[in-house]
Amino acid sequence: MTVLASGSKGNSTIVSTSKTRILVDAGLSCRELFKRMRSVNEDPTTLDAVLITHEHQDHVQGLSVTARKLGIPVYFTEATHRAWMRWMTPRKRLTYAEWLEQRRQEAEKKKAEAEAQGAEPAPEMANPFYREQQLAECAVEEEELKSEEKQEADPCALPAVEYFRAGSQFSIGDITISAFTIPHDAIDPVGFVFQAEGVRIGIATDLGYMPPNVSLQLRGCDVLMLESNHDLEMLRDGPYPWSVKQRVMSRVGHLSNDAAASFLESHYDGNASYIVLAHLSESNNLPELARLSAEHALRDRMRLLRNKLVLAEQSTAIGPILL
Ligand SMILES: [Zn+2]
Ligand SMILES: [Zn+2]
Repeated sequence: MTVLASGSKGNSTIVSTSKTRILVDAGLSCRELFKRMRSVNEDPTTLDAVLITHEHQDHVQGLSVTARKLGIPVYFTEATHRAWMRWMTPRKRLTYAEWLEQRRQEAEKKKAEAEAQGAEPAPEMANPFYREQQLAECAVEEEELKSEEKQEADPCALPAVEYFRAGSQFSIGDITISAFTIPHDAIDPVGFVFQAEGVRIGIATDLGYMPPNVSLQLRGCDVLMLESNHDLEMLRDGPYPWSVKQRVMSRVGHLSNDAAASFLESHYDGNASYIVLAHLSESNNLPELARLSAEHALRDRMRLLRNKLVLAEQSTAIGPILL
């Protein structure tokens, strides 16, 4: 497993065997994804499929270009595919300049709201164009690809779409995948457990709390990628507007360091070789806080060859983790 990026500005991970290579989410521009793959000696052209957890921008923003450039199928639930198409379509009806202006106005409105609450703007808001820059890069790539393809391509066109259901098991090449429902404010969000060659890898990020069904799925994993999104105090005292804080803390928001730790302490079986703490917030968390909290929870179980803690990063690829 190689984590290309993890956090609210983009998520993408490669899970592979010697025969099959799957990209889980495509939350960076295609160019950036390829760049990061090359930085860890992964060849983008060897990918077999893209698998999507949910339709939030930080998981799909480079999807259409990446899938079309590589000519590989995309696996979604049907509801997520539809939500993704809705997300793709409206901005395509605008001219690029109109769309950028709309985003700029939204960013200003958000900033004004935050200031009205007496808060310092969050770093993303201090640079309200961050997401716009990312999206602009994706939009430019889409335009370039269209002219390469020499047709008025549908922005939602994909080489192939395969549906799976949350709660089901399916295979891509020699990898068996279990998709399970997670509590998050998307239309049909899922986590995954991958099994091949006697190895089990679990990915559970973007979940408001740890329900028993997810806890059960994550048993027996050799690699466990678990969300450790925020420190509750940093979030409470931090720069986000109250409505956003409420959303992050809610049962359909993101898993806090404390919630991740309480899972590790009480429900985790202690058998993973690696625990990857993921989707850390840049505004409301510090890598050291996430690490300490998990280490404390695992204090008696950090045996020599098990439970190595790894922190996924937003800005650089980490891995590969080899088993
Ligand atoms: Zn996310
Ligand atoms: Zn999300």
